[in-house]
Amino acid sequence: MKVMKIVITGGAGFIGSHLCESLLSHNHNVICIDNFITGVKENIAPLLDNPGFKLIEQDVSKYIAIEGNIDWVLHFASPASPIDYQKYPIQTLKVGSLGTHNALGLAKAKGSCFLLASTSEVYGDPLCNPQPESYWGNVNPIGPRSVYDEAKRFAEAITFAYHRVHKIDTRIARIFNTYGERMRIDDGRVVPNFIAQALKDEPLTIYGNGKQTRSFCYIRDLIDGIWKLMNTNIKEPVNLGNPNEFTIIEFAELILKLTGTKSKIDYYPLPVDDPKIRQPDITRARQKLNWTPKIQLEQGIIPTIQYFKSKVKP
Ligand code: UDP
Repeated sequence: MKVMKIVITGGAGFIGSHLCESLLSHNHNVICIDNFITGVKENIAPLLDNPGFKLIEQDVSKYIAIEGNIDWVLHFASPASPIDYQKYPIQTLKVGSLGTHNALGLAKAKGSCFLLASTSEVYGDPLCNPQPESYWGNVNPIGPRSVYDEAKRFAEAITFAYHRVHKIDTRIARIFNTYGERMRIDDGRVVPNFIAQALKDEPLTIYGNGKQTRSFCYIRDLIDGIWKLMNTNIKEPVNLGNPNEFTIIEFAELILKLTGTKSKIDYYPLPVDDPKIRQPDITRARQKLNWTPKIQLEQGIIPTIQYFKSKVKP
């Protein structure tokens, strides 16, 4: 197989660092760009000694200068949890718009292929379930989640425009809730929140009545899906996620069971515009990529709990 040189923006983040690791293990050369506003140095610390790995500390909302040829630009930089992107609303809008423009500009200058990490948030609070790629979504353009949702919708639009106008070889992955080792314990999402609360015997914080649903995909399955997408010539967006859908109450009960905690459950108001249902329709990924997630929730959550055990302060 050809050894490739691959730029990963957001390479020190949760998904980005797994991608760096996986591509290096297949002998590719990786240039990780991260400004560490939500990325974590520890995620890539074991890679720093690898001669195939290079770290550039910068904000990709600013011009990206890299010497030499590049085969792929994988654009994963962005705050991605609702808590993070509401804490960094302008940075989120900038990395999704200016950052995507810069990353595409780099791909154009180098003649590289380009992959955009998009999101199920482009569907907003969806009016159909499951969500196929043909669904245009139900996004509040000025709500608290809009800084992420609209930035990613813009990112998809400019990616497609660069494909149409400049003939860039592009891919768009619409990533649904993904979990696993290296999620930040304080990123505010349901997986780290519930696990950390359970490990500390504190109440699990359910927002709303807990009947809203999410469908959780283990990181290893997602990385496999991204690799298959890179290797399949499909320009249209492709949903990547695990279609097994759970209510948040069911998820809380699973965490209670697997941790054996003494935690109870507390209820808090549902955040504004919190999607009530979410399940990927992965027909396209199954048919075109021959991809389907293999690791079911309980199987992936066990090593994730193990990981968080080392992060919870006693
Ligand atoms: N949620 C919850 N308790 C928490 C954190 C999240 O009940 O401590 C809910 C949240 O309201 C949402 C779902 O869990 O309905 C998933 O939230 P998350 O922040 O993980 O990401 P989202 O899928 O909304 O982007």
